[in-house]
Amino acid sequence: MMQEKNARRAVTAIVLAAGKGSRMETQVHKQYLDLDGRPLIWYALSAFEQSSVDQMILVTGTGEEEFCRREIVERYGFKKVAAVVPGGRERYHSVYEGLKAAEGSDVVLIHDGARPCVTGEIIRDAIDGAAACGACVVGMPVKDTIKIVDDQGDADHTPDRSHMWMVQTPQAFSYELIRKAYDRLFEEASHQRGITDDAMVVETMTRHKVRLIKGSYQNIKVTTPEDLEIAGIFLRKMGKTVDI
Ligand code: C5P
Repeated sequence: MMQEKNARRAVTAIVLAAGKGSRMETQVHKQYLDLDGRPLIWYALSAFEQSSVDQMILVTGTGEEEFCRREIVERYGFKKVAAVVPGGRERYHSVYEGLKAAEGSDVVLIHDGARPCVTGEIIRDAIDGAAACGACVVGMPVKDTIKIVDDQGDADHTPDRSHMWMVQTPQAFSYELIRKAYDRLFEEASHQRGITDDAMVVETMTRHKVRLIKGSYQNIKVTTPEDLEIAGIFLRKMGKTVDI
């Protein structure tokens, strides 16, 4: 494993790549799938490498640390990756491992490695938001009508769309706040059910408000095979791909 420096730096990006990506229906884990000549995870790492963050913690599947260090970090020359650490069973387990490795940071950004279209502007806005409010997550207003459905699949009710946002990453926090929220989450395991993002941990375990700021409709999470095609279109348009 690449050895943790636990560097005492101000802003750390935790990039998550420990998911199995089972909805991609491929043998290769989704973070290593080829997208125009680069592994999917390269795009998010590259965006943070070029940003003002001081360091990155890359969270990978257990046993993949050495592969990731050699084939991703060293091969592509990412200088800001201070540590490659193994993640856990659920996303929130992986985040906690990343947070422990980021000890000493002032601000942390938590980013899904499966969101390759994140831009420098989004990263900058998230850092500024966390500095101003302590907890700032990127998202976008929903475009579709959302229905709450009962166990039979019948519509139960339709919430007011004007108050609904879909949440993306990065999610940016003061380190002290998010670490306290996650420490509590792991002390009180009963709260762990259904945790799908970091803002939820702050909402559930603290009284701190979470500010939403606009990201981009292009900042998609690659989950299914068609998402990879769509991300490719966006990245080519952004001039981010190599094999065009
Ligand atoms: O599973 P989901 O699509 O919500 O995953 C979002 C991000 O979290 C992905 O980048 C994935 O690699 C990461 N993840 C993780 N550890 C897990 C599950 C997901 O790092 N146990």
